[in-house]
Amino acid sequence: MSMAGTVRVPPPVNEPVFDYAPGDPARAALRSKLAEMSGREIEIPLIIGGKEVRTGDLSTCILPHDHGHVVARYHLAGPAEVEAAVQAAMEARRDWASWPWEARASVFLTAADLLADRWRSTINAATMLGQSKTCHQAEIDAACETIDFFRFNAHFAQQIYSEQPHSPGGIWNWADYRPLDGFVYAVSPFNFTAIGGNLTASPALMGNSVVWKPSHSAVYSNYFVMRVFEEAGLPPGVVNFVPGDPRMVTRVVMGSENFGGIHFTGSTDVFRSLWQDAAGNLPHYRSYPRIVGETGGKDFLIAHASADAEALVTAMLRGAFEYQGQKCSALSRAYIPESLWERIGDQLVEETEGIAMGDPADFGNFMSAVIHRQSFDKIAGYIEGARNSNEAEVLAGGEADDSTGYFVRPTVIRAHRPDYRTMCEEIFGPVLSVFVYPDRMWSETLEQVDGTSPYGLTGAVFARDRRAVEDALHSLRFAAGNFYVNDKPTGAVVGQQPFGGGRASGTNDKAGSKLNLLRWVSPRSVKETFAPPTRYRYPFMAS
Ligand code: NAD
Repeated sequence: MSMAGTVRVPPPVNEPVFDYAPGDPARAALRSKLAEMSGREIEIPLIIGGKEVRTGDLSTCILPHDHGHVVARYHLAGPAEVEAAVQAAMEARRDWASWPWEARASVFLTAADLLADRWRSTINAATMLGQSKTCHQAEIDAACETIDFFRFNAHFAQQIYSEQPHSPGGIWNWADYRPLDGFVYAVSPFNFTAIGGNLTASPALMGNSVVWKPSHSAVYSNYFVMRVFEEAGLPPGVVNFVPGDPRMVTRVVMGSENFGGIHFTGSTDVFRSLWQDAAGNLPHYRSYPRIVGETGGKDFLIAHASADAEALVTAMLRGAFEYQGQKCSALSRAYIPESLWERIGDQLVEETEGIAMGDPADFGNFMSAVIHRQSFDKIAGYIEGARNSNEAEVLAGGEADDSTGYFVRPTVIRAHRPDYRTMCEEIFGPVLSVFVYPDRMWSETLEQVDGTSPYGLTGAVFARDRRAVEDALHSLRFAAGNFYVNDKPTGAVVGQQPFGGGRASGTNDKAGSKLNLLRWVSPRSVKETFAPPTRYRYPFMAS
């Protein structure tokens, strides 16, 4: 239908976070959803061009905290299905790209409202089961952050579309914010359900179509995101859901001449290889692909001697151990002055030892299992290395038990050298390394923080002395894309702290902001002249 009017999206507000306290009706609803979903096994098809596709080549979705427990079997794409997904995306694109932008926005605003209510307990329960998140961690990710992405991005898209060039007398200049001239490949990680939602929805909002390869370890929750898209009215083929072998899917997708861009979140090495693959195929592509990737981190906290001790310990515990340290923003190296360490060291160890860990369905737990065996083995290897090293000591935790689930106790390592490997390398688990520095070495320690790792994702300074805060803001300007003053380095909120880092942490295209959406448009400048000249001679040519 054609309509007249300059419409505006409802002003976005952040989705309120439910607290699931005893007596809260949302707690009862979530508990019953958990029981229902963990008690049955579902089958997850591929979704290509809006159709369910079953290949019979099956893999399983298990609970990381109870790895013998299967909640789903899912079909894996082969090369033919990936090819079909690329074709479906290219076909859907023609119509979708010509929709009025507000109609596209409406689909994602509808998805947000479905997630806020009818689908909330399902998406949270799926994330608690398949990715071992506590109810709070699932709530802030799967429900709230996904909803915030959809609502705020609609608002940012409106801002982009309303930015139009200057038009002096006699002409009218327009910006036509076209989508890319091809499809977008979205490759999502296991650790945030919201990221799968955003990697697909943000290019789609701007008129692109998408081939989505979710992480093997998040297929369960990601499938429900896909179902929400469908229920919200997303046309067939705009997003195509194709779990499968990552290398094979990538080879087929990037082999298409219509590959228009990649929207990736995951580890640094994988992103580098994807960029190289795209570069290698460059002569074959119709356009230069847009490459957007948010990758690894080695997130830090530096405390000044003036820091508030209680606030510091709380930030360290929450920053390092929530979601088992598997947030890209998780605190993993802390620099504490000697005078402060004398006051907080024992408390940090004691509180770490007291952390409750187990099945997320038991709401008394603060932590649960790490995602899979590979991760469990890697984390346990770092801890074992620290135990056997004379350059570090394990002060708290350190136990790892994979008999039922992939459980690693929250661990504090004291590094005796600032370049000990657990101070430098991304571990992606519940391991916090602490380096205790002489109080007088504040400036040198700031330099150390900046130069220790190749990443630049998140970081924090704790100080009551404002001069120290200024020192850190200045010295660490390029060490983190998201920087916190007297707060933990995790928990960025869409619309408030746009997220992303530089250096080896990504292209810093700031998920949940206008900057990200700009990567998914290829503007056309149009000049219209009202009364074009009718003679070719210029006045200066007159005799
Ligand atoms: P991962 O790199 O193992 O996987 C990410 C995605 O890439 C998955 O879909 C995976 O199947 C796919 N993949 C893996 N190997 C591939 C290959 N050879 N070719 C093509 N695709 C491939 O990461 P993960 O374990 O899912 O997530 C954890 C990592 O993600 C950490 O490094 C973390 O720092 C990073 N992360 C970063 C951010 C950020 O915003 N910077 C956010 C979340 C996670």
